Amino acid sequence: MKQWQNYINGNWQNSICNETFEEKNPADLTEVIGEFASSKKEDVEIAITAANTAFGSWSKMSALERADYLKQVLDWLKKEKMTFSEIITMENGKTLKESLSEIDSAIYEMEFQIHQGCRLYGTTLQTNKKLAMAMSMKVPLGVVAIITPWNFPLNVACRKMIPALMAGNTAILKPASLTSLTAVKFIELFDKVHIPKGVVNLVMGNGSLIGDVLTNSTKINGLSFTGSTEVGLIIQKNAAKNLMPTQLELGGKNPAVVLKDADLDEASSAIVLGAFACSGQWCTSTSRVIVEKEVAKDLVEMLKSKTQKIKIGNGSHPETGMGPVCGIKQLETISNYITIGKKEGATLCCGGDQLTEGDYKKGCFVKPTIFSEVTEKMRIATEEIFGPVLSIIIVNNFDEALSVANNVKYGLSSSIFTKDFSKAMRFIQETKVGLTHVNMPSAYKEPALPFGGVKMSGAGLPEAGTVGIDFFTKHKVAYLQY
Ligand code: NAD
Repeated sequence: MKQWQNYINGNWQNSICNETFEEKNPADLTEVIGEFASSKKEDVEIAITAANTAFGSWSKMSALERADYLKQVLDWLKKEKMTFSEIITMENGKTLKESLSEIDSAIYEMEFQIHQGCRLYGTTLQTNKKLAMAMSMKVPLGVVAIITPWNFPLNVACRKMIPALMAGNTAILKPASLTSLTAVKFIELFDKVHIPKGVVNLVMGNGSLIGDVLTNSTKINGLSFTGSTEVGLIIQKNAAKNLMPTQLELGGKNPAVVLKDADLDEASSAIVLGAFACSGQWCTSTSRVIVEKEVAKDLVEMLKSKTQKIKIGNGSHPETGMGPVCGIKQLETISNYITIGKKEGATLCCGGDQLTEGDYKKGCFVKPTIFSEVTEKMRIATEEIFGPVLSIIIVNNFDEALSVANNVKYGLSSSIFTKDFSKAMRFIQETKVGLTHVNMPSAYKEPALPFGGVKMSGAGLPEAGTVGIDFFTKHKVAYLQY
């Protein structure tokens, strides 16, 4: 059995206690992908010390020198695109096409953030004194911890690591256990380009154990986290004790509003894509459809017919349209929510079952599921399911649609489908989310623009775009008399 180690201070090493954990392919749970170092407190502490020691020289390098290392990492990623796509599909279950699209997005984000990191402009200012001036500079935080989820194991790591490093920070990456191999392979690229030891570190294993050490450390100067709202709250509470800055990208319950004048064919295609791509496991997946009553019946029929055409299977088979969900725990959570939806009295339009026969029986397969006649307060309409389950809520008019769309604790993404410019503009103004879409799937995003949620979907500065590096810097002001 292949064993994969932590990467600390430029060395690949076992955890201090030599313990490991296994990772399995969600399309076939009998296939063990490998064994991974299961880190203890001491491993994390050694990584923190290494990153602190490396900070001095890394932060003093010029931006171009840092960019030179990261451009080489980028070149390797481009060369190894196919290997990465196969690994992501094997660990996460998404289709090869979806894995390749994740890698393309990661490449674009890396390129953008490397360039952005070479433009860390400050400001200069005339002061109130004669023969004096002042300037403000952006300086690195120090050592940053980066904690990532399993749903976009490469893209989220890139989105955080590259701006962090370009700004002059050193980093400790803690990936989700379900997708540790993608993280190992990503860190191998830094090793290949001989990044100075201690600048990049990888610690794998139990989230709460490693998370507790990182969030309670006085030697970690910032923490960027993507994951569930529940864990985000724990992190925020721990980090507050030492006033550690945090960037939290959390869960969602993203609505797609469909008005009666919408092109229903286009809207239904966009919703099916938004709801079931990556088996509904995007933080920006569409999980609620809020539709005006006049077109509800037609929309439901179109959604149902398009959803039933999705071919479910192993993500590594080219004909597969939707892979398994990512692991047994996910399968149980999703199945539990389907049972809740049935008990709550929603109408099951399609799906609603696990797939347990033939090739499916070894994996975590669930049919894409649509519930209609869902009411605003049902649990399937308010709680994040994070799987291929779509709830349809029927409303009387646009104002009610807007109110239902906003009436959840989350605020990550939303969509509206309409030809009415005024209503689209009102929706843009009044939808309480970090990103919104008109006549497009709720999951669409581009690396050149900021990404982050509001309400319980996120806190701290957003990621990506021209502001993506800001979280990883602080301002220092100098006054000069001449
Ligand atoms: P999760 O919160 O269970 O885990 C995320 C990471 O946190 C993992 O690496 C995990 O090991 C670690 N962790 C677990 N307990 C911890 C603790 N006590 N302290 C510190 N770290 C801890 O989330 P997940 O299941 O990996 O991912 C799914 C969730 O992520 C969903 O809620 C989804 O909406 C969210 N997500 C959000 C975004 C976004 O940008 N807003 C993007 C992707 C995923």
